[in-house]
Amino acid sequence: MHYSAPVYRPPGEANSILLEVTVGCTHNKCEFCYVYKDISFSVSPMEQIEKDLKVASLRFPENKRIYLVGGNPFVLPFEKLKNIAVMINKYLPKCEVITTFARISDIKNKTVVQLKELKKLGISFIYVGTESGNDEALRFMKKGITAADSVEQLKKLEEAGIRYFAMYLAGLGGHRNGEKSAIETAKMFNQLSPRGIGIMSLTIYDNAPLKKMVENGEFVQATELELIKEIAVFIKNLNISTTVTTQHIVSLIPFKVKFPEDKEQIMGRLMDFLENTSEEQISQNFDRKNIRSI
Ligand code: SF4
Repeated sequence: MHYSAPVYRPPGEANSILLEVTVGCTHNKCEFCYVYKDISFSVSPMEQIEKDLKVASLRFPENKRIYLVGGNPFVLPFEKLKNIAVMINKYLPKCEVITTFARISDIKNKTVVQLKELKKLGISFIYVGTESGNDEALRFMKKGITAADSVEQLKKLEEAGIRYFAMYLAGLGGHRNGEKSAIETAKMFNQLSPRGIGIMSLTIYDNAPLKKMVENGEFVQATELELIKEIAVFIKNLNISTTVTTQHIVSLIPFKVKFPEDKEQIMGRLMDFLENTSEEQISQNFDRKNIRSI
C-alpha cells in the first residue's frame, strides 16, 4: 500500500483498510492545526489507487470497512469519488462502509442527489471537523466556515442518509470564552442529528501557527478547569439523541456517553469534578504541554 505522508485516522478506524486517495489538506490554514503544514495537497493517481486495492483484495478480502486517507478526501469532485467507490466495490465486494474525513466546504460542492448516489456506492459514514458553533472563534482560527454553514451542509448529509461524526474543539474561543462557545456549539448541534460528537480539548503543538500567537499574547488559552466547565455547559445545553465522547489523549476526563439517557450522570460527574478540584491539583497530574502530537 502507498502512503506518501504520515497517516492520521480516527481511533474508530483502527481495523479499517487505509487507502490513500489524497495527501494533505486543501485548506491548510487553521491556526491550531499542524498536521499538514509542510505537505502540499495532491490527489493520488487512479493507477496507484487501483494497485493498492489489488493488494487489499489479496490481504484483506473479508474486511468490511475502508477509510480513505488524507486531510479531506471528500473535497474530490463527485465523479472522482464515484469512480473510487466503484473501484472499491469491484476489488472488495464484501466491504460495507467507505468512510473518510470531510471539511464542511467539501459537502458544499455536491448536491443531495450526488450525495445519495455516493451513499448507495458505500460512502455512508463521514468524519467532519465542525470544531465550534462560535463564529468569532472560527473566524479567528481561520477555519473558513461558520456555524450556519455546518448546519446547512450537514443537513444535506442527513437528507442523503450519510451518517456523520462531528468534532467539537473545546477551548477554541480561548480564555473566558468557553461558556459562549459551549452554548453556541450546543445550539448548532441541536439543529442536527450527528451519529456522534467527539469533544477534543485545544492542545497547542510546537509547529501549529497558534503557538506563536500564544507567545505574542494574541491568544490566551483556556485553563484546564475552564475546558471542563465548557464541556459541562455544552452537555447541559445539548438536547439531541447522539453519542458524546471525549476519549482522546487530549482529554482530562475521558468518557463516552449516550444522549439523552446518560446526560444527568455525566453532568453530575463533571460538576463534582469542578466543585472539588483546583488548577493546582490538576497540574500535579496532568500537563497539556507534555501531550505528544496526535
Ligand atoms: S484542521 Fe482540518 S481543515 Fe484545518 S488545516 Fe487541519 S486538516 Fe485542514
